[in-house]
Amino acid sequence: MTGPVRYALEGDVALVITDNPPVNALGFAVREGLQATLEQAIADDGAKAVVLVCEGRTFFAGADISEFGKPPRHPILREVHEVIENCPKPVVAALHGTALGGGFETALACHYRVAVPSAKVGLPEVKLGIIPGAGGTQRLPRLVGVEKAIQMICNGNPIGAAEAHELGLVDRIADGDLTQTAVTFAREVVAKGATLVRVRDREAPGGADPARFEAAREEFARKRRGFLAPQHCIAAVEAAATLDFDAGMKRERELFTELVTSDQSAAQRHLFFAERHANKIPDIPRDTPTRDIAQVSVIGAGTMGGGIAMSFANAGIPVVILETGQEALDRGMGVIRKNYEGSAKRGRITTEDAENRIGLIRPSLDITDISDSDLIIEAVFENMDLKKQIFRRIDNHAKPGAILATNTSTLDVNEIARATARPPSVLGLHFFSPANVMRLLEVVRGDATDKSVIATAMAMTKKIGKVPVLAGVCHGFIGNRMLHAYFDQAFRLLYEGCQPQDVDRAIYDFGFAMGPFAMSDLAGLDVSWRVRQEKGQTQPIADRLCELGRFGQKTGAGYYRYAEGSRTPEPDPEVAAIVEEEGLKRHGSRREIGTDEIVERCMLALVNEGARILEEGIALRASDIDVTYVFGYSFPAYRGGPMFWADLMGLPAALKKIEDFKLAGHGDVWTPAPLIEALVAEGRSFADFDKAKV
Ligand code: NAD
Repeated sequence: MTGPVRYALEGDVALVITDNPPVNALGFAVREGLQATLEQAIADDGAKAVVLVCEGRTFFAGADISEFGKPPRHPILREVHEVIENCPKPVVAALHGTALGGGFETALACHYRVAVPSAKVGLPEVKLGIIPGAGGTQRLPRLVGVEKAIQMICNGNPIGAAEAHELGLVDRIADGDLTQTAVTFAREVVAKGATLVRVRDREAPGGADPARFEAAREEFARKRRGFLAPQHCIAAVEAAATLDFDAGMKRERELFTELVTSDQSAAQRHLFFAERHANKIPDIPRDTPTRDIAQVSVIGAGTMGGGIAMSFANAGIPVVILETGQEALDRGMGVIRKNYEGSAKRGRITTEDAENRIGLIRPSLDITDISDSDLIIEAVFENMDLKKQIFRRIDNHAKPGAILATNTSTLDVNEIARATARPPSVLGLHFFSPANVMRLLEVVRGDATDKSVIATAMAMTKKIGKVPVLAGVCHGFIGNRMLHAYFDQAFRLLYEGCQPQDVDRAIYDFGFAMGPFAMSDLAGLDVSWRVRQEKGQTQPIADRLCELGRFGQKTGAGYYRYAEGSRTPEPDPEVAAIVEEEGLKRHGSRREIGTDEIVERCMLALVNEGARILEEGIALRASDIDVTYVFGYSFPAYRGGPMFWADLMGLPAALKKIEDFKLAGHGDVWTPAPLIEALVAEGRSFADFDKAKV
């Protein structure tokens, strides 16, 4: 037969073979082919059993995402599963690669599963803001029990074949040839002559206790605060435990449909693609040669240098870390050791892993030790003269072809590059704090940066498990430049009538991990105070707190006070008095400000500055800005990022609010970005802007 699915006989066992590169996605043609070929197997008297097997690198890796949101074409996956499940002959799934989502659901509809040791299975739908919609939430609990099913479906992480075997999800591990093992297994089943047990006919073990589901709801309300999908997943598993199979399937469909049309799922799918697009740079083709990064040096063992060194060690890449003096070096290595030991204690890595990783980081005081490194990252104090001086020294000792990077948050990468004799090899690699944890990395392209240097940086970023976003040179690049506008509004809200906890509560409830003032307390107030002093600027509320020695968590007080050893912010009457006094000084009166205004002013300030960044070409796409904010600033993923959020609001509505804020005198940030005005005039969105650029 033609199409992606073909039929073959291996003695008395029918093979249903799918070949739909690259990942055997379960699109319409595959579903149609599966149905027809399975019916052929059922009708074939020469076939006593059926094996489902896929060609290429994987079993069905999932649904065909391009069909999302389109009207379903029959047979839908559930209908194919009914044919499999009701087949009077045993159907065995032969798993290799990644059987995920719809692929794993198809395996669960089979009577048996055989897998190669490297196979992975799982239901990652929750990561796209939906639940499994083809019986996964009903069949999985019947095989592994309610507890395990909730964890697998709500976390969405795949498991390996060995664990799947232990759990009873996989009946046999294939040591040799997968198809042959599956065929042999099928023959053994036929020989035993046992009645076929469909997964649907089993009971979900460990079922109906309502307290179990309540506990799960609470657990995921905490772990995935604000996300609807994990809660829907739990409801679906509860249906599996409390309803009969068909009623459970109906409930799963209802819950799935609710989510697939929700803003949250749209936002999470947007991010899924945004993260992939961020890797593509129009003038740097995929086949651009990259350099090998086998050895790295980091200059500076402070907050950032230590975390950056850990990021490479975590990926198995050896690092030399340099300092000016023994004491600073010991302190830096001490922090690294403490971090790794903490991870080992919490069971995140083994003690052996911790030691191996520490062993990959070599402390040094000798700049000539950088001479073997393929990549050298500078992470010293934020001072242009110091950075230039260090880059001159790096230039003297780095080997030809080495890539020279600065972790500066704000400084001009072009000026730093010009301090060397090799500007084409220089770029910015802006890690976020804590660098070993935060996934975002802004890759900053200088005027002279070579394409192969950018291509190498983007590839290297992926290798160390980070998410790269390309940025151009400007003060603060993408993320921190936008943050400036956000803080401008956060402060204005204090002067006009809010207390820090009012602003923080609104931003936290919007979905950020914390609001701007709790964030300042965590990062420390002293750094920006010093910068303001250098620039002759003032921010009276913040300045007064600093004058009182309130530098944030590290001094036990900042915008909040902190009990000894605690990180829990507590509102402080001393701060309230300062805020009130400074507010009255500036405005003469104070007013009550609602949550909506707080959120809209903070978010639209990000959006308006984001649009300027797009206009100037500092960011390539609106979706890159969204990736930056979600992975670097804890913007809630279920809202898709600030630019997506503005698109959802509608750019005309966003522009109207921006104009209103300007009229109300809420500051300079409210001059509408010409790009927003142009998009509104053309009836277009940020998503349309991105499309036109691809
Ligand atoms: P830090 O003060 O914690 O560390 C700087 C380290 O550099 C110190 O240990 C210092 O001894 C060392 N150092 C100074 N001169 C040196 C030299 N000549 N050779 C070797 N080491 C030297 O500062 P940090 O917070 O790690 O910031 C470092 C850089 O990273 C800055 O450019 C900063 O703007 C940027 N950055 C910071 C953050 C953050 O949140 N802290 C985030 C992103 C980027």
